[in-house]
Amino acid sequence: MTKYEETPKRSANEIFKDESNYLRGTIEQSFKEPLSGKIPEMDTQLIKFHGSYMQDNRDDRLTRQKKKLEPSYQFMVRVRTPGGTATPAQWLMMDNAANTIGNGTLKVTTRQAFQIHGIVKWNVKKFMQQMNDVLLDSLAACGDVNRNVMNGVNPNQSELHAEIYDWATKLSEHLLPHTQAYHEIWLDGEKVQGTPAVADVEPIYGKHYLPRKFKIGLAVPPSNDVDVYSQDIGIIAIVKEEQLIGFNIAVGGGMGMTHGETSTYPQLGRTIGFVTPDQLVDVAEKIVTIQRDFGNRSERKNARFKYTIDKYGIEWFKEELHKRLGYALQPIKEAIFTKRGDEYGWVKGKDGNWHFTIFIENGRIQDTKEYQLMTGLREIAQVHTGEFRMTPNQNLMIANVTPQKKRTIQKLIDAYHLTDGEQYSALRRNAIACVSLPTCGLAMAEAERYLPSLITKIDDLLEQEGLRNEEIVIRMSGCPNGCSRAALAEIGFIGKGPGKYNMYLGASFIGDRLSKLYLENIDEAAILKELQQLFHRYATERLEKEHFGDFVVRTNIIEATTDGTNFHTLAHTV
Ligand code: SF4
Repeated sequence: MTKYEETPKRSANEIFKDESNYLRGTIEQSFKEPLSGKIPEMDTQLIKFHGSYMQDNRDDRLTRQKKKLEPSYQFMVRVRTPGGTATPAQWLMMDNAANTIGNGTLKVTTRQAFQIHGIVKWNVKKFMQQMNDVLLDSLAACGDVNRNVMNGVNPNQSELHAEIYDWATKLSEHLLPHTQAYHEIWLDGEKVQGTPAVADVEPIYGKHYLPRKFKIGLAVPPSNDVDVYSQDIGIIAIVKEEQLIGFNIAVGGGMGMTHGETSTYPQLGRTIGFVTPDQLVDVAEKIVTIQRDFGNRSERKNARFKYTIDKYGIEWFKEELHKRLGYALQPIKEAIFTKRGDEYGWVKGKDGNWHFTIFIENGRIQDTKEYQLMTGLREIAQVHTGEFRMTPNQNLMIANVTPQKKRTIQKLIDAYHLTDGEQYSALRRNAIACVSLPTCGLAMAEAERYLPSLITKIDDLLEQEGLRNEEIVIRMSGCPNGCSRAALAEIGFIGKGPGKYNMYLGASFIGDRLSKLYLENIDEAAILKELQQLFHRYATERLEKEHFGDFVVRTNIIEATTDGTNFHTLAHTV
């Protein structure tokens, strides 16, 4: 079995990490260089560990090229917000930064993090310092490390949410890199809240960090809003008589693939056992170290944890984990999921506080002439005494509103017409799109900018068949990297080229079965034609309460996954 030192040909990123002096590289100098908005390739890889990507506005590329200008380089910064929670002060800082040094918008990501786009090189440090002032950071929000830890945001379980949020934060902090590079480069040596004090030692990651990104999410049944089976470690809370007794652990989920390369595929996490709360952090750490030691360091396309498990086998993995822990996981406990979507509007928690979930289309917070969403949220942040929670479905909960404050918040909701999405179809309320164009360098087709108009057309088809209120999970990604988790959508689109998508069908409503490729490289006309026929059949042939994803599998429109978990595993064992 391959360990780091024995890897014959390490990938370029491995060399960068190796030579980076614990993620420092030449980032500090590169960001001071006055002549160009770009930074060298090695630093573009290393800066991901600091939570940022160098991008350029792809809409401007040709015009600038003709004018012999360099691309309009800019930086996206993803903020680490475990469980998607932000205080009003943090919200106001993000809002101010977006409007002064960003592109005037904020994005709620599919992993419950803030993303801010359009920061020029010379303003990145300023932004990092502004974050630090309100106890936020972007350390490990991207890169080959554990990223933002997700947790469910069910407003009906507000007390339990606090407990689960606690675990998300503990995991996030425990798995942070220990290097002081972030503090030295961005904060002139200041310490970030919650980061360990030990300098230049990485007791968990080692010098070479992980082979690829690593994701953790905690779900609280019956809601699978975090898509727990899409995570490298999916953690499922087990609750008995309203008490958290522990967690089922699922391992090796992941959404990304590469078009046309059968050695890459989306995969579902497989549940391997149950742990008590006091074991959770240790178990997560040991799982991470197995991936550190056995993940593929030669080929990044096959470096995710799912491939490590598929290569060596789940039984080998369990044995290795038990060996490292010194004890065995307990048998899996029953957990039943029934939904993934958000509960919009006002919900009263058991403690008497209120929570209002706002529908935010594809997580984009901005002001338009018609809808002053960003201003409305800013005004709310100025009076709110609870917190904000970004949901895994890219929506926003104004959480923990006291009964005394509810009327004030409601007035602002009314004044800015902030919507719970009630006027929209159930399809739109269950939609997710990644950022894609114009900023994502990997995008092959539009996603966030296109899905809303496509849904308007799909809504007409649903209306014709009386299906407007049917909950169907639809997702679009601009490339097969899978940021919108389209492989777990009942109707999924993955960008193939400008205006062209691969269409996937057949994932389950609750996210425990992957979809399958249905049609390749199709345009909007073909998408609508196909959906029209499918919706007609669904309206006339479906069983009572049958979800669309289940329907297309039962009627053999799409071939069923062989074992109820994942056909990809069987078809493409590495
Ligand atoms: Fe970019 Fe692809 Fe992720 Fe979309 S799925 S944000 S296009 S990397």
